[in-house]
Amino acid sequence: MHAFEKIMKNEEQRQKEQNPEERIHNFDEVSFGYTKEQAVKEAKRCLQCQLPLCEKGCPAGISIKKFINHIACEEFDLALKTILEKNSLPGVCGRVCPAEEQCKKSCISRPKINIELLERFAAENAKKIVKNIKKTGKRIAVVGSGPAGLACGSELALMGNEVVVYEALHKPGGVLTYGIPEFRLSKKIVMDEINYIKRLGVSIKLNSVVGKLFGVDELLKKYDAVFIATGAGLPYFLGIDGENLSNVYSANEFLTRNNLMKAYKFPEYTTPVKKAKKTVVIGGGNVAVDAARVAKRLGSDVTLIYRRSRAEMPARDKEIKHAEEEGIKFMFLANPLKIIGKDDVEGIECIRMRLGKPDYSGRRMPLPVKGSEFKIACDQVIVAIGQGPNPLIGKTISLNTGKKRNIVVDTNYQTSIKNVFAGGDIITGSATVIKAISDGKKAAKIIDEKLKRG
Ligand code: FAD
Ligand code: SF4
Repeated sequence: MHAFEKIMKNEEQRQKEQNPEERIHNFDEVSFGYTKEQAVKEAKRCLQCQLPLCEKGCPAGISIKKFINHIACEEFDLALKTILEKNSLPGVCGRVCPAEEQCKKSCISRPKINIELLERFAAENAKKIVKNIKKTGKRIAVVGSGPAGLACGSELALMGNEVVVYEALHKPGGVLTYGIPEFRLSKKIVMDEINYIKRLGVSIKLNSVVGKLFGVDELLKKYDAVFIATGAGLPYFLGIDGENLSNVYSANEFLTRNNLMKAYKFPEYTTPVKKAKKTVVIGGGNVAVDAARVAKRLGSDVTLIYRRSRAEMPARDKEIKHAEEEGIKFMFLANPLKIIGKDDVEGIECIRMRLGKPDYSGRRMPLPVKGSEFKIACDQVIVAIGQGPNPLIGKTISLNTGKKRNIVVDTNYQTSIKNVFAGGDIITGSATVIKAISDGKKAAKIIDEKLKRG
C-alpha cells in the first residue's frame, strides 16, 4: 500500500477497556490490548518511514519499523523475534512504557501509531524460541531481579555465559511484581516473561539478600563479574509531625502488601490491609496514582494531593485519566503540613501553594500561600513522594556513591571496583522500566566483551 493510500485509510485502532464502574471493584487489567485484526490494521497504518524517527526515541533501540512491518504482514513470530533482540520484556513494556514520551513522541503518522500496543500484541501472540547457545565458561552474578537485572541476565545468557540472579524477595520481577498493580500489569505476563528468561539458562535464587547473607566481595570470589541492579526501593518520607501514626503508609509498603502479598485477597492470603473509609495520597508520580487506584479498589474514597498543578504531574497522562474516570479526586497546589491523630490517623493539615519560577528540574517551584492552611479528615495517608537506592549493598563493599546514595558508574557501567558493574534505578534513581532494560542490555555486552578479552 502506498503512503498516500495509508494516509487516506488512517483510522487509529483503539483497544477495549473495562468500564470504570466495573473495574473499581476488581484488580483485573483495565486495558485488553489489540485483537489480531486490530493489530494488523494498526500496523498497516505505519508509513515505514525511510528515517524512522520513532526508533530514535526508544531507549532500548528496538527496530520498530521492522517489527511493525512483520505484524502488517501477519508474521507475528518474526515481529517478536525482532523485539526480543533488544528487549526481553515486551509484554511488560507494551503495558507500562511511557511511549508517548519516547518512540511515539517522534512518530510522524497522524494519529501516531500505537507502537506500545503493537509490542504488547506481538508479545502475546507469537512464540518465543529458545536456541542452543555455545557456552563461554564465564560466570556472572546479578544482584536484583527487576528489569535491569533480568535484561542483563538474559543478554549474558544469550551470549553463552552462566548467570545466577540473587533476589532479596520471595518472587522475582522487582517493581514489576511488587510495585505496579495487577490492573496495569498482569503478574501472569511478568511471570511468563521471566520464565522465558529462565529458559535461556538464567538461574534465579530467591530470598537471597546480598549484603546480609553474603556480600558482593564474596560473590566476586565465585564469579567472573557482578552486575548490581538493586533498584531504588527505599521510600522517602515527608519529615512532618504525625508521620509515625498508625495507618500512615509509604506507597512502597502499601503497594507491596497488595501486589506482592495479595492483601486485597485477605483472608485467602494472610497479609491484612486496612479497609479505609477516606484515604489521602500525597504525590504526583506513577507511584502515587497507582496507590490511589489500589485504595479505591479496596473501597475507599480517595483524594490525591499534589503540590504543583496537573500540568507538572510526572505520572503518565493515560494513568491520570484512568484515575479520574475511577473517581479519584485530585487536589492540586496543596502541600501537607502535619498528619493529625492520637494513635490512628484522623486527618491531615495542608497549605495552599502557588507556582513560582522554574527550579533546577525546569518545573515551576511550588510556594506556600501564607494563612491558607486547611484540614481534611481521613483515616489513611499514603506517602508517595519518591524513593531512593537502598544503602545495604554499599555496606558490604566500598563502592563510590553519589549524593542520593546511587552507585556511581562510568560510561561502561563500571563501578569503582574492578569487575563490578551496575545499572537501572540504582545508578539513576527512580526512572523507567525501558531505561533499566536498556542499561541491563548495554552493560551485558560490555561485561561479555571484557570477559572475552580476559
Ligand atoms: P527494581 O525494579 O527496583 O528491582 C530491583 C530488585 O533488586 C528488586 O527485586 C529488589 O528486591 C532487589 N534487591 C534490592 N536490594 C537487594 C539486595 N541487597 N539483594 C538482592 N536483591 C536486592 N516505570 C515505567 O516505565 N512505567 C511505569 O508505569 C512505572 N510505574 C511505576 C510504578 C511504581 C509503583 C513504581 C515503584 C515504579 C514505577 N516505574 C515505572 C519505575 C520502574 O518500575 C523502575 O524504574 C524499574 O523497575 C527499575 O528497574 P530496576 O531493575 O533498576 O529496579
Ligand atoms: Fe511507522 Fe511512526 Fe516509526 Fe514512521 S515514525 S516508521 S510511521 S511508527
